[in-house]
Amino acid sequence: MNEITNRLKAIRNAIKDAAQSAGRNPDEILLVGVSKRQSAAKAMAAVHAGVTILGENYIQEAVEKIETLKDLEASWHFIGHLQTNKARFAVQHFDLIHTVDSIKLAREIDKQAQKIKKIQKILIQINISQESSKSGARADDALALVRGVSLLKNVAITGLMGMPPFFDDPEQARPFFRELAQIRSKIEDAKIPNVLMDHLSMGMSGDFKAAIEEGSTMVRIGTAIFGARS
Ligand SMILES: *Cc1c(COP(=O)(O)O)cnc(C)c1O
Repeated sequence: MNEITNRLKAIRNAIKDAAQSAGRNPDEILLVGVSKRQSAAKAMAAVHAGVTILGENYIQEAVEKIETLKDLEASWHFIGHLQTNKARFAVQHFDLIHTVDSIKLAREIDKQAQKIKKIQKILIQINISQESSKSGARADDALALVRGVSLLKNVAITGLMGMPPFFDDPEQARPFFRELAQIRSKIEDAKIPNVLMDHLSMGMSGDFKAAIEEGSTMVRIGTAIFGARS
C-alpha cells in the first residue's frame, strides 16, 4: 500500500507542474481517485494517503464498497454510464454524478432526489469524442440540455464532464479538452439561473497534464494511483 502513497506523491507533483505551466493555481484542481474494479482495501489505503474523493463506475460494485467503507471520511463521485433505473442508487450514495447526458436521466435523478429531500449535484457529460457509440450529449445540444435541466428543482448543475477518444499520445487529446472548455465558456456566457460552471471534469491517468493545461478542475485518475484493475 506504500506504493499508493508513492504514486500519489508523483501525481500531486505532476498536477502542480501542469497547473503552474499553465499559470493556474494547483489548488483549483481536484483529484478523483478512480477505485472502480479495485478492492475496498485499496480505496481505503488511498484515502489514508490523502485522497478525499473516490470515483466509481458501476452501481452495484460501488454500493457494496461504500457500505464496506461507510466509516471512511470520503466523498463518492459517480463517473460511469448511469441507467435511468439505477438513478435511485446514485442519488442515495453519491455527492456528484458526472455523467448526466439526457433530460430523461436528469428528470429521474430529480424525482429520486426530491424523495429524499436532496439537491443532487451533477455535471453534464458532453460527447466530445465524436464517436457515436460513446455516452454524452452532443456538443450542439449542450446549451439546450443545460437550460432544460436547470429548471429541475432538486438537481444542481455544477459543470461539465468529457472524455476524448483514446490516444497513445496525450497531445492528440488536447483539442478535445479545448473544445469542452469552449463549451463551458459558452454556457457560462448564457448566465442561466441555477447553473454553475465551476467544474470541468476531464483528464485521466494518461492525459491529465494536457487536461489541466486546458482548464480541467477535476482529474479522474485510476491506474496511475492504484495500478492495473482486476
Ligand atoms: C476508468 C475511468 C477513469 C480512470 O481511468 P485511468 O486510465 O485508470 O486513470 C476515468 N474516468 C472514467 C469515466 C473512467 O471510466
